[in-house]
Amino acid sequence: MSGVRVHPNGLCESEDVGDGTRVWAFAHVLPGARIGRDCNICDGAFVEGSAVLGDRVTVKNGTLVFDGVTCEDEVFLGPNVLFTNDLRPRAAIKRTGEALLTTLVRRGATLGAGTVVVCGVEIGSHAFAAAGSVVTGDVPAHAFVAGNPARVKGWVCECGQRLSEALTCPDCAKSYREDGGGGAGGGGAGGGGVGGLTRAS
Ligand SMILES: [Zn+2]
Repeated sequence: MSGVRVHPNGLCESEDVGDGTRVWAFAHVLPGARIGRDCNICDGAFVEGSAVLGDRVTVKNGTLVFDGVTCEDEVFLGPNVLFTNDLRPRAAIKRTGEALLTTLVRRGATLGAGTVVVCGVEIGSHAFAAAGSVVTGDVPAHAFVAGNPARVKGWVCECGQRLSEALTCPDCAKSYREDGGGGAGGGGAGGGGVGGLTRAS
């Protein structure tokens, strides 16, 4: 924890935070939260005790990462991104641990400002949710999704640029191919991933 920087008005109660991670003012990280190296937890963010963040994850201002959420390395969570972990919340019923539905955000994915993620889904690597998306199902790798409920509108490169119909990036020339996985709305636990694109070159 020696390399963790916590703003004097930030509150980091976890002992499991990697070197180089910064926790800014009025952000709150609960005991037990696992956070990797070189993350940026911005003002007013909240990370609950069984949440897991990989390395180099950005959590922008006001974003809420509740129990049951895992974000792999280099995930970008824009401001006011909102996760959930209970499909049927009731004030009188306390659900914890196994009773919560988990959410997995794969490496390099971006959730734009104000994205809402309904729990129990997997968001594929380098997928990109437009601002204000309401994600209610699995998102394929490299998919660009928008709307409520979020639908696949196209595909994005690792660099964030939209891909051409030939699945090539006009900016960095990387190309992709379909990986033959489950696709949007498919999948589920043990289903072998969410499909989408993989790098061809
Ligand atoms: Zn590119």
